[in-house]
Amino acid sequence: MERRRTVSDFQNPVAGFGVTFKAMFKKRLTEQYPEQQKTTAPRFHGRHQLNRHPDGLEKCVGCELCAWACPADAIYVEGADNTDEERYSPGERYGRVYQINYARCILCGLCIEACPTRALTMTNEFELADSSRANLIYTKEQLLAGLEEEMVDTPHAIFPGMDEQDYYRGLVTGAAPGTVRQTATSKGEKDDADEEVDA
Ligand code: SF4
Ligand code: SF4
Repeated sequence: MERRRTVSDFQNPVAGFGVTFKAMFKKRLTEQYPEQQKTTAPRFHGRHQLNRHPDGLEKCVGCELCAWACPADAIYVEGADNTDEERYSPGERYGRVYQINYARCILCGLCIEACPTRALTMTNEFELADSSRANLIYTKEQLLAGLEEEMVDTPHAIFPGMDEQDYYRGLVTGAAPGTVRQTATSKGEKDDADEEVDA
């Protein structure tokens, strides 16, 4: 009896190391993040993006349906009217203010399902952590898609001879020749003539 207890006392710590030795030869699960980025699933719900039409005009019409659909009250939208002198989208209205609060967002995707124009989609970008609450509120400028070839930044005129429906029919494939960016007077920009007078 005494001899059996001595053998058992000796084996106990060794048995514990047995678990360690077994784990040493198993496939490692450690992710070398952030040095090695993991590829996400194609339909991963990451940071949002506000999309543009092929000529650069914005798809968002400021309808607020995304904000109403959001269960976390994370979206804030203010719509405004386009004018011929300052146009952001092909139709009557555009999203003047657009914010998503990533301190609230649960990346559920209900907002993108609610969007009638496919203006709002989600990207695969997941690095959204920040130490400041203010930095977690993304503005329209941060969410707006970058400019591709054939695009001109907003505001600018609608493609000549086309209407809003034509944009959704895919008839506009790029900015019309000679399209130039208009002055964003609603954002406090001044055109060149005004600046010369001020000077
Ligand atoms: S993904 Fe969900 S929680 Fe985040 S803004 Fe959209 S609806 Fe709201
Ligand atoms: S993103 Fe879509 S749903 Fe949201 S305000 Fe713009 S057009 Fe409407």
